[in-house]
Amino acid sequence: MRTPIVAGNWKLNGSRQSARDLAAGVATGAPKSGVEVVVCPVSLHIPEVAAAVEGSVVALGGQNACENESGAFTAEVSSSMLAEFGCRYVIIGHSERRSLYGESDADCAARGKAVIDAGLTPMFCIGETLEQRESEETIAVLHRQLNALVEAAGDDVFGKCVIAYEPVWAIGTGKTASPGQAQAVHEAIRQYVAGLDGTAASSVRIIYGGSVKPDNAAELFAQPDIDGGLIGGAALKAEDFLAICNAAAEK
Ligand code: PEP
Repeated sequence: MRTPIVAGNWKLNGSRQSARDLAAGVATGAPKSGVEVVVCPVSLHIPEVAAAVEGSVVALGGQNACENESGAFTAEVSSSMLAEFGCRYVIIGHSERRSLYGESDADCAARGKAVIDAGLTPMFCIGETLEQRESEETIAVLHRQLNALVEAAGDDVFGKCVIAYEPVWAIGTGKTASPGQAQAVHEAIRQYVAGLDGTAASSVRIIYGGSVKPDNAAELFAQPDIDGGLIGGAALKAEDFLAICNAAAEK
């Protein structure tokens, strides 16, 4: 039995005050059981958000982490630094990092390994572009992204991470993969994991991201291989994010 997880990726949004308010709203309304709720603010806002969610069921996550522990890596943040501020999760390999900042499969995999080495859990994002989907390369792309992680972190990596399937064409576009489309890919990802680690295949949480909203969350989360969501736009409004968390808790 896998506990669903719903994580809010706040991206580059908010002020100290608005991050505090949003975190407090999520902490007050988050379901007490049936789902793990995570919020991932801008690194600078983590201390504010940590204080706002303290004592609640809400966990904290970072939006990225350096593959190195310390040193001459300007503007980076390490996993142990995130851990020191109470983070338990780190989003790794988000498509915006891959496409806008040139993080390769190998870079994302190295970052994922560093997160695990620091005792945190990566939410490792994978996904295909519209062009790749239309040329029927979806599964090959996902395998390539996952192979890189396995190469960096070992065959047992899926016992230590969450996989986030985020079709790039559905992120921030209002276009959602249909529940059937998403389920088919999640099932294929679980089969890939089964080929390496049968135990992890049944325990690894594979979450869906891409324009999840209160009105489509329940149908997506009802699919057998969808174990929650990574939420962008809808995570910026406590009411919408909590509705999505509640849909996952009722799975
Ligand atoms: C995301 O950026 O991870 C995401 C899923 O965004 P949105 O929910 O806005 O599509």
